[in-house]
Amino acid sequence: MTTKSNLVGGEFLFRDSAAKDVFIPEEFTEEQKMVFNTVKEFMLKEVHSMGMAKLASLDAEKDKDLVLEIFRKASELGLCGVSIDEQYGGMGLDFNTGLLFTEALALGFSFATTIGCQTSIGSLPILWYGTEEQKKKYLPAIASGEKGCSYCLTEPTAGSDANSGKTKAVLNAEGTHYLLNGQKMWITNGGFAEVFTVFAKIDDDEKLSAFIVEKSFGGIELGKEEKKMGIKASSTVQVFFNNCKVPKENLLGERGKGFNMALNILNSGRIKISAGGVGGMKFGLDKCIEFTSQRIQFGKPISDFGAMKQKIGTIASTAFAIESGTYRVGAEVDKKHTELLASGSSANDSKINAMREYAIECALLKVQGSEAMCNTGDEAIQMFGGMGYSTETGVEMAYRDARITKIYEGTNEINRMLALAEFYKRAFVTKELNWRLAQKSVPSAIFQNYKPFTSGYLVTEFEFVNNLKALFLILTGAAGNSLKEKLVEEQEIVMHLADILAMAFITESAFLRVKKLKEKQGTDQAELEIKTAMAQAYLYDALDTARKAANTAIDSFSSGFQKKILKGLVRRMLHPYHINPKNTKRTVADFFIQKGGYRF
Ligand SMILES: Cc1cc2nc3c(=O)[nH]c(=O)nc-3n(C[C@H](O)[C@H](O)[C@H](O)COP(=O)(O)OP(=O)(O)OC[C@H]3O[C@@H](n4cnc5c(N)ncnc54)[C@H](O)[C@@H]3O)c2cc1C
Repeated sequence: MTTKSNLVGGEFLFRDSAAKDVFIPEEFTEEQKMVFNTVKEFMLKEVHSMGMAKLASLDAEKDKDLVLEIFRKASELGLCGVSIDEQYGGMGLDFNTGLLFTEALALGFSFATTIGCQTSIGSLPILWYGTEEQKKKYLPAIASGEKGCSYCLTEPTAGSDANSGKTKAVLNAEGTHYLLNGQKMWITNGGFAEVFTVFAKIDDDEKLSAFIVEKSFGGIELGKEEKKMGIKASSTVQVFFNNCKVPKENLLGERGKGFNMALNILNSGRIKISAGGVGGMKFGLDKCIEFTSQRIQFGKPISDFGAMKQKIGTIASTAFAIESGTYRVGAEVDKKHTELLASGSSANDSKINAMREYAIECALLKVQGSEAMCNTGDEAIQMFGGMGYSTETGVEMAYRDARITKIYEGTNEINRMLALAEFYKRAFVTKELNWRLAQKSVPSAIFQNYKPFTSGYLVTEFEFVNNLKALFLILTGAAGNSLKEKLVEEQEIVMHLADILAMAFITESAFLRVKKLKEKQGTDQAELEIKTAMAQAYLYDALDTARKAANTAIDSFSSGFQKKILKGLVRRMLHPYHINPKNTKRTVADFFIQKGGYRF
């Protein structure tokens, strides 16, 4: 297999990355870390230091004022403009630093969603697709936080099937304004936003277009704040457009290209959910370690018990692995952006196409990041026992707040399907991915890489990574051959294949990180050992996930001789991984318990 530093999206499947070419979080510069620390300190000061009584206000629909007060303070710090270019009043952070910013936001409960929307789906449509005039007109006030913004795609009858929206835009007789009519639902920041990106169909178009709509245009009514399970103080409303007069020049991007635009904005939102998940997991760990170290039962801290250590070790390892994948992709987006700019692509196109390139990885990370964060919330409640179930500690609030991440920015089912659909499209329709190269890599993965007793630094681990990739290709090929176009309808199988794909990408990212650290001068040995243990613990669990997914998929589409062969391959390629999972996770847990939190 060849080595290339800038991977095409999805190409990780059949092109090895050299560790030296992969970005790892340890390489964040002092400046980038300063962004993270500023946001973290802001959250600790403005959100956490107010104590549980006031923190509970972030869990009440009626207390949106508190969120807006924090929003105002964040604006003063310039946090609303992190992703907006400097010439429009923002900080112009690169994409990966933007992800780091999002990781720190995770400490903000409902507020994280408010500012997350402002800096992501609310403002990116204008930043990426706007004309110079539109950017100059709208971005400075969004960057300064003077104007809140929101993203209006979903409708009562158009959720996952977003392109089926009924909101309509018709050009008036004078040809000066579009008249916008329709109803949007679940609109984050809708209650206070002044600027809305609205997706609607012009006349009888089949495809959506997008518009920049100001509240001051009139013809806009807001529904009541939704009563939700979590992120209660984050504004979520329905928005009704009744002959809302939108100037013709407020059409955003090209007519009929709104759906592509909406999806691409969501690619960015998806990987941000993963970054937020990493932040949530690390923060949750800190809280769990603090609590379990102080809570005495049977005469000792409960953190001494193996059952608690197993949970701490699992959460830490998962956070480490997902973090590795998230920032690896973030850096690739930045590289691609620079590469496209250098090749003469426009500022907008460079941003758009750099993001689009990694749609597969963004979808996979969204699913894994959100599910890991939700599991962390559940396990945190368990570690806190009754106090976790009580509203006094904020743990149940964090658990409820986290739950939305599996639903918005495309549900996890939709994202699993999207990852596979995008892979098939690139491999067989647009041929951006070299399927023939992929096929060539499969036999080598089966025959050359099957060396269960080889020794050497991470040799077994990289064999497993290659085998996960190869198994995905084999099963995807076999399922495609058996089911042909019916595979799209056999969603259960697609879900399993997507999980194998995710395990391949995330385990590879974690081990490339560890390998790079090992090759780097000055890496602390104890830290390297713990990071290696975390990657190994994640791989151990990932192999279980992949074995189950592979076997269930095979049982669902295959029979007879083919089934026997495929099952044999699973046994052979995902053979037992000879580490002691109990000891590995205990080592990880003990390291962080001793440090008093997830820190190095
Ligand atoms: C708190 C909150 C904030 C939000 N913020 C915004 C926002 O700011 N802007 C915005 O535009 N939207 C927003 N949304 C909407 C969100 O993106 C949608 O809720 C989401 O896309 C799912 O749509 P839905 O709720 O209509 O569920 P549905 O599409 O009805 O899905 C229900 C279930 O059916 C499954 N399903 C649907 N279609 C398929 C299929 N083809 N195959 C298999 N399974 C399928 C889904 O995976 C899900 O499990 C927000 C939602 C919430 C709850």
